[in-house]
Amino acid sequence: MKHALVTGGSRGIGRAVSVKLASMGYNVIVNYVSNEAQAEATIKLIEEAGGTGELLKFDVSNLEQTVAAITGWQAAHKGEYIEVLVNNAGIRKDNILPLMPSEDWYKVLGIGLNAFYNVTQPLIQPMLRKKFGRVINMASLSGLKGLPGQTNYSAAKGGIIAATKALAQEVGKRGVTVNAIAPGFIKTDMVEGLNEEELVAQIPAGRFGNPEEVAALVGFLASKDASYITGEVISINGGLYS
Ligand code: NAP
Repeated sequence: MKHALVTGGSRGIGRAVSVKLASMGYNVIVNYVSNEAQAEATIKLIEEAGGTGELLKFDVSNLEQTVAAITGWQAAHKGEYIEVLVNNAGIRKDNILPLMPSEDWYKVLGIGLNAFYNVTQPLIQPMLRKKFGRVINMASLSGLKGLPGQTNYSAAKGGIIAATKALAQEVGKRGVTVNAIAPGFIKTDMVEGLNEEELVAQIPAGRFGNPEEVAALVGFLASKDASYITGEVISINGGLYS
């Protein structure tokens, strides 16, 4: 059985990615931190689509919790490994820097950047040993361009982009690709409260994107067809930025 782990798979983009990877034959390990009912709803969608999935609750920003969950999974699945990792969990806590409380800086960096280390480090070794793996990191337009009111989020996403490029060069010879996706505005809980009408006016495609559109890109990057793409950041933003 082939396994994929999607962090933050309980809602939004992570849910759509989980369903997509399940449709490609992966047993999907759906990570979440608090929203059990939504995480279970993702599993239901996976099963309705004929796939299999399992829940793995941990806070990606907590190193001990993350390592315990992953090593526990590995111990229960001797001889198997997680060949696709989608580092998707993320939050935003927007504020201009002069007004930003330190906890909002550290929280966003903890979940958006430190988690990359926490989750990827224990999973990359088996990928290298098996000479096949896919690491797909959910970055953002904010990490490419920098957005005012999001110095914390831009820093996390910019860091993820740089880490993607560095790791891709470390593991390229072993059949492991590492790529980032930089979405613009995608209709999920994360964009609730934003002025959609005003923002859509700036988007050439004239609308927000759907989680399924991002999931299709993840599916491609996870596939063997994308074997020669690594260290890239692929934007999916309706033409908002290039
Ligand atoms: P969302 O709907 O708010 O969902 C966030 C997901 O992350 C949930 O599954 C949540 O789990 C999980 N999560 C949050 N903190 C976590 C933690 N400490 N440990 C484990 N899981 C955690 O967000 P989304 O819009 O789908 O965003 C997914 C990714 O895309 C994020 O990295 C985001 O930055 C990026 N992105 C989104 C947009 C957009 O417009 N939506 C644009 C650019 C980039 P619970 O359900 O348990 O809370």
